[in-house]
Amino acid sequence: MAAENAQSKQARIDRIKSFILTCPDFPKPGIPFKDIMPIVQNPDVFSDTIALLEEHIKETGVEVDIVAGKLPGETVKCSYALEYGQDTIEIQKTAVKPDQNVVIVDDLIATGGTMAGACTLMETVQANVVGCLTVVELDYLKGRENLKHALHSLVHY
Ligand code: AMP
Repeated sequence: MAAENAQSKQARIDRIKSFILTCPDFPKPGIPFKDIMPIVQNPDVFSDTIALLEEHIKETGVEVDIVAGKLPGETVKCSYALEYGQDTIEIQKTAVKPDQNVVIVDDLIATGGTMAGACTLMETVQANVVGCLTVVELDYLKGRENLKHALHSLVHY
C-alpha cells in the first residue's frame, strides 16, 4: 500500500512537471527559466500542487501557524543575489508574531538566495522557521546548501 501511494504521488508530481515550461535564455542568455504559469492556469493541477505541499507538512508533523508569501505594508527588507541579478524581499513588521511557526513557500529555488533571505527576514521578526517548500528545485545550483532549515521540493531539474 505504501509503495502504491508513493507511486501515485510520483505520478502526480510527474503530471505537475509536465505543465512546467522551460524558456531558454530568459531573462538573460544561459538561464533556463522555469515558467510555472501553466500550473497556475490549470485549477486542478494548481490545487494538486498545493495539496502535495500540504501533505508533506502533515507528514512531517510540524505545527504551522503561518504560511509566508510576499506582502505589502510597513516592512523589513532583505536584499540578495539571484541566479540572474539582484532582488529584495520584504515582510510586514506586524505580519508575524514572535514565536509563531512559519513555513515559507516559493515557486522555485535556484541559488537559494531568496529562500535564505526569507528565512532571515522571518528570524528578524522573531518567528520560528519550521520548513521551506518549493514547487521546483534546480538541483544543479545546490541552493538547498545555503539553507539551515529543511527544504521540500516537488519537481527537480
Ligand atoms: P534564488 O534566490 O536564486 O533561489 O531564486 C529563486 C527565485 O527567483 C524564485 O522566487 C524564482 O521565482 C526566481 N528564479 C530564479 N531562477 C529561476 C529560473 N531559472 N526559473 C524561474 N524562476 C527563477
